[in-house]
Amino acid sequence: MLDEFFILRRDGLSLFHIRLEENSFTVQLPEELFAGFSSAIVAFTSELGAGHLSKIEIEEHIFVYEVMENLITVAKISIDDDETIAEHIVALLYREFVKEYQEELKNFDGTVRRDIFFPFADKVRKIVQMCENIVRNNPNLLANIPPSISIEAIEKLSNFSEELVDKFPEATIRMTRNFQKELPEEEMHYTMHKLGIEVGKDVAEKKIKKKTNDKAIMKILNEISICSCNDNIITLQICPFCRGRETKVFDCDFVAGFIEGAYNNPQISVREIACHATGDKHCQFQVFKISEM
Ligand SMILES: [Zn+2]
Repeated sequence: MLDEFFILRRDGLSLFHIRLEENSFTVQLPEELFAGFSSAIVAFTSELGAGHLSKIEIEEHIFVYEVMENLITVAKISIDDDETIAEHIVALLYREFVKEYQEELKNFDGTVRRDIFFPFADKVRKIVQMCENIVRNNPNLLANIPPSISIEAIEKLSNFSEELVDKFPEATIRMTRNFQKELPEEEMHYTMHKLGIEVGKDVAEKKIKKKTNDKAIMKILNEISICSCNDNIITLQICPFCRGRETKVFDCDFVAGFIEGAYNNPQISVREIACHATGDKHCQFQVFKISEM
């Protein structure tokens, strides 16, 4: 999943470097070769502003890196590893590193011993293992959830990802409501919509034996609540996903995503157009279909 992981200061000074081999983790101070590489990366990334996630391919390896403020975090992976997961890990570890060494980083001028950062190896090991578990349980989950969301919340969800589908709708409602509470407002809508798509796809795959059509979708939705469909507008009489919530903007991104995922058709997208949480009588979802020529 990840061969090596580095954290550099933008001036090229290496702060942390770990080589992750199967079943063994070694923390290293940078070698000659690495020093060369790091100055190359610094030269390359100095052209970019902060907040850029990018990659360099060198022979069999890919270096996925992110430039943030004064630091560059880099993951080295093999060409057949999953880049999305590496990007995720890079972003997560950057955040953890800054959180853990806030004070040290403020005063760190490079003359202090670098072994103050050695204990970070435990964090790297833990996060990489968590990501591996998540990917094992649900290969698409990480790619669909922004890295700024706590890995613990994602792991909790992934541990139950079978239940999300197998114990639909009770477990699906309970667990997604709990997960939604842990998300920061600015990322909640996107994340819940993406999650809904994944779960909807899996539930429909399991439940629809014949053809996926409006009727089959409505049959699934009627397990959630009494539903009706008119002119491609689906109405949930009582929506258990937003029950008890009062919000300024539509709240049922998960349901919109769920319906879209259940159709699993690139020609169909679904958007919420009325929501009980914002004071509407019912939650309603518009199904947009690109008409076939
Ligand atoms: Zn709603």
